Amino acid sequence: MNCNDIQEKLARALVLSPEDARHATDCAACAGVAETYALLDVALDPERVLPPDGFADRVMARLESEGDARRFIDRPWVTVLLVNAAVVLAMLNVARFIAGVLVASVGLAGVR
Ligand SMILES: [Zn+2]
Repeated sequence: MNCNDIQEKLARALVLSPEDARHATDCAACAGVAETYALLDVALDPERVLPPDGFADRVMARLESEGDARRFIDRPWVTVLLVNAAVVLAMLNVARFIAGVLVASVGLAGVR
């Protein structure tokens, strides 16, 4: 068993054999990794990150009160307007590209 194997087991939260556990406490590198994962487990404990009571109800109430403002972007005519604007911009970009090629070729023809 080397440090990589033991640290891999620590990362995957596997149960260590007594021999591995002894190494994980005696080896400074593995002990540091074990401590880091232990701290992460505490920090990510679901009991610690539960939302306060009534949080979901308050969020839903607020979403309902602001629903009209949020739905503006979802209206069909807004989507059509945005798609048309994107098409116009794409066509202008193509025209700009073609004009750039034409100007460059006319410029080269003039040099000859
Ligand atoms: Zn080690």
